[in-house]
Amino acid sequence: MQLLDPRSIIIVASLTYGLMAVVLYLMRRNYPRNIRGLGHWAGAAALWFCSAMLLSGRNLGLPDFVVVLLPNIMLVGGTLLYYMGCRLFFEQPARWWPWLVLFVVFALGFAGWVYIHNSYVNRLILFTATVLAIYMANLGVLLQHGGKRLSVRVVELFLAFQIVIVLSRMVTSPADMTADRLYEQSLVQVIYLSSFAIAHFFFTVSAVLMATDRLVAALENLAHNDALTHLPNRRALFERMENEIARVKRNSGRCGPTLLMFDLDHFKAVNDTLGHQHGDKVLVHFAQTLREQLRKTDYVGRYGGEEFMAMLPETDQAGALQITQRIHDATHNGHTLANPVSIGLATWGGADDTLEALISRADSAVYAAKAKGRNCTCVA
Ligand code: GH3
Ligand code: MG
Ligand code: MG
Repeated sequence: MQLLDPRSIIIVASLTYGLMAVVLYLMRRNYPRNIRGLGHWAGAAALWFCSAMLLSGRNLGLPDFVVVLLPNIMLVGGTLLYYMGCRLFFEQPARWWPWLVLFVVFALGFAGWVYIHNSYVNRLILFTATVLAIYMANLGVLLQHGGKRLSVRVVELFLAFQIVIVLSRMVTSPADMTADRLYEQSLVQVIYLSSFAIAHFFFTVSAVLMATDRLVAALENLAHNDALTHLPNRRALFERMENEIARVKRNSGRCGPTLLMFDLDHFKAVNDTLGHQHGDKVLVHFAQTLREQLRKTDYVGRYGGEEFMAMLPETDQAGALQITQRIHDATHNGHTLANPVSIGLATWGGADDTLEALISRADSAVYAAKAKGRNCTCVA
């Protein structure tokens, strides 16, 4: 059987790392700064590119420094940089020191087995032991902090795969192996090189996917949540309320929802006397109070300014009044950020009712609560 040529595998791999280094570098420049690790990943891909390029010059009469020592140092350096990129991406401190010591020991040991006692097998064992330590640490950080996203799972899978391949390469290296066997046309060597090339390619591709996942999540968060209070914004809240109304209309046997409209009392005076920043803190505190007092199944959001809205599914007027009383208690308890609130309450009127009509009734009820003296709930 005609085996794949090891040199071609290395050259193709090198080109893919080069391209991925450019992609990751451009992402680092254009993605938000709080997505960390992209620079490290770009650096890792660039080092893998240089390493594979130099390795492809093996057995062409070039000095050992260029085709043996340097590429191996770059390969291990890139693997370390990739690991540090993962740490930063998952907001873990990059603990460089122990790894730099390992890196220096590796470089010195490797140089010793090139220049002092030329031994391919010793170099192979030193190399595999070093990358194994990095792979395992990298896998550990992903399993602990990486979550369940597919992009992370792919890196975990290829790290585990690499650990198995590298371990088996270590075990299968013949004891008498003293010559340079990088370009040996054996099945074991072709599998070893191919798996190395494929795994590192997927490391870089998954880095792109992980960063893109993070960007998508940040954009979704921005599109659906209010930046100040982190409650769902008006659009997200309306989407959820419309879904709930559709569910009620489909299932007429179900008790309808109750809508609550909140308007903080004399909030302009808070801004005017204590400043806008204090006003912001009052809004954040009020949002937190709503989260605490409402149930997990309720929908709550910021309607705009100092007005909030909540839909309580399958809740009648009496049940909703109990909840609004709890909210009045919590917004009138002497806390420096607590601010009384007027609440308008409207219950579902049956099959002919609509979300717009419900909101309009709750809105009128808020005006009634204001007229009644504020810090109370009125029912539409
Ligand atoms: P009322 O009891 O009748 O509701 O009086 P009010 O002062 O609460 O009502 P008004 O509508 O006169 O004022 C609302 C104020 O809310 C005015 C606006 O500057 C302030 N506001 C709206 N959005 C924000 C915000 O994001 N942060 C801060 N600090 N203030 C805001
Ligand atoms: Mg208002
Ligand atoms: Mg107000």
